[in-house]
Order: sequence, then C-alpha cells, then structure tokens
Amino acid sequence: MTTVVWCPDTRLHDPRGAVWVGMPDPGDEVAGRVDVILAALEAAGHRSIEAASHDDTILEAVHDPEYLHHLETVHDEWLRSGIPQRIGQDRVVPYMFPTDAMLGGLPWHRPTMVHARAGKYAFDTMTPVGPGTWAAARAAVDCALTAVDVVADGGDSAYALCRPPGHHVTRSAYGGSCYLNNAAVAAEALRRAGHERVGIVDIDAHHGNGTASIFYARGDVFYGSIHIDPGAGWFPHVVGFADETGAGAGVGATVNVPLAPDTGDEPWLEGVAALAQAVREHGSTALVVSLGVDAGADDPNSPLRITRDGYVEAGRLLRALELPTVTVQEGGYVLETLGGLVAGFLVAFRA
Ligand SMILES: [Zn+2]
Repeated sequence: MTTVVWCPDTRLHDPRGAVWVGMPDPGDEVAGRVDVILAALEAAGHRSIEAASHDDTILEAVHDPEYLHHLETVHDEWLRSGIPQRIGQDRVVPYMFPTDAMLGGLPWHRPTMVHARAGKYAFDTMTPVGPGTWAAARAAVDCALTAVDVVADGGDSAYALCRPPGHHVTRSAYGGSCYLNNAAVAAEALRRAGHERVGIVDIDAHHGNGTASIFYARGDVFYGSIHIDPGAGWFPHVVGFADETGAGAGVGATVNVPLAPDTGDEPWLEGVAALAQAVREHGSTALVVSLGVDAGADDPNSPLRITRDGYVEAGRLLRALELPTVTVQEGGYVLETLGGLVAGFLVAFRA
C-alpha cells in the first residue's frame, strides 16, 4: 500500500481567484481539492498520515533564501502598506515586474513599495498571495519531505498530498498557482538520503518549468515531462520544448515530450513509457512523480484527453521501474473527478 501524507494546513491558502489579462478570474486551485483527494484515497484503502514538520535545510537548497523570506513575509507587509484599505486588494498581486530585461544592466535597487517589489519574485498575476499562502505552501513541503522519510525508512512508495502545487516555481520566482517546489524538494531530499541519481517524471498537463530549471544543469537529477505543447499556445508558453535537453553537467538529463491538443491515452502512454525508459537509462535509484491529473479529459486547463484508465496504466508503467517512489500532487482541478484520477494512478502502488 502507498502511504498518503497530508496536512490540514494545506487548506489555509485561499487565492480568491486570480488576475488574468488584467481581469478577475475565479480560479480553481481551491482547498476542496485536498478533501476530495484524501477521501478518494482513503476509500481506496490507502493508509493516511499527517506530515511531520521539517526544518528549512532542503528548502533552502532548492530555493533562494531571499525568495523564501519574501514569500513568508510579503502578505503581512501588504497588510501594513494600507493597500487593502486604499485599493481594496487584500491579496498580493504584482503591479510591475522589475526583471533583468527592465534593468538592462543597470544595478538593482530594492523598491520601497511592496507592490513594486512583489514582481521581482513572481512571473505572472495568476498566483495571488493571501494570509494563509505561506503556511499552506510550507505544509505542502512538509508533506513531500515526510513522504521521502517514508521511502528512506524502507517504504517502497509514498504519496504527498501537496497543495498548493509546486512544479512551476523556479529557484526564485513563483507562478502558475505554485509557490514552493515540492517535487524539487523531494528529489533533493532523496539525493541527501543517499540516492546518487534521482529521476523525476512529470505527467501534469503542463510543463514543470520550475523543476526543469532547478535541475537543468545537473546530471544527478533527471527531469522528464510529458505535457501539452507550449508551442500550441499553452502555459508556460516559452519553455517545455523538445529541444531543451539540459546544460553543462546536465546535458541529456532533461527530456520534454510535448503533445498536440486532443491527444488521448495511447500516444500519451507511449510518451510515459519513453520517460520511464529514460529514467532507467539515467541510472536513477529513486523516482519522484509529479502527478498532475489536469490532462484528464474533462479538465478545462488543458486540451489533453486522458482517461482514468490512462492514469491507471501510467501508474503501472512507472511502478514497473521498481524504484522507491515519491508521488507528489501537482494540478488537477475538476472536483467531481479529481480524486478518482489520483486514486487511479495509485492503483499500481497498492500491492
Ligand atoms: Zn498543470
């Protein structure tokens, strides 16, 4: 059986929608996702435990400490700035993005105003920070680290019910409804638990640009992703293409499998099998699965058409690697079917 690790604090994040092309969007990364997944996995007979708290050692290896400090403190500072009273916005939403492209070589000066500074650590406006965001994101990291503990203690698999998701977060910026990179934390923790080579397979509907970038120049952590083709007009738009294969020591340790809209189970599973084979060839001795189920046929966040049977078979293909496996929850947003798709993937991990 797979041990399911969850934490009630992951419900504390309430983005209250997002801002998309300047307009309010209702958003669907809601706390109820935790409850439907947990209920489905308990009904399927998996054992659930609550996450144990862990220190920041691994988190600080994956993310820039300055970024972590920003994320932990920015909402309190937003409240103190008076913006909620004056403007009516009680979530942190960047107003400008002081990026390298803006600076053009000029030296960076820390902005006095929190609404200007917020854009340094974010790359979209769809990922608001509220009063419970840090607590929830940090609890999700504890879920991932506790799942690694289960595997490091001899368990052959564990599932981390991480919410909010994490695979879009880079070393120093959040976006795509993600704040801390749970999968990257799990991979780094497995490295430090003695696995010299770790594989990550990301089957969320979208390319995990954050995880990809964190490990792009490293050979010890393989990153393989199958996702809707960003070139067909889908998030994250600018990366996730097949010609991204790693840099420096990481050359060959990144594989992207972009798929056309309306792709169904068969070609998707061929891609998952190819990623499993790449993990084998990498020589990974432990596996992290970024399990997004937003490739599900009824999820409007991608035009992929994967069925529950498809997720069951993807679980079998990855289970056949016979590696200690930490599965980390990423996307998947249709509350009526979300739990069933996650439970489907984990069928192969029950025995
Ligand atoms: Zn996704």
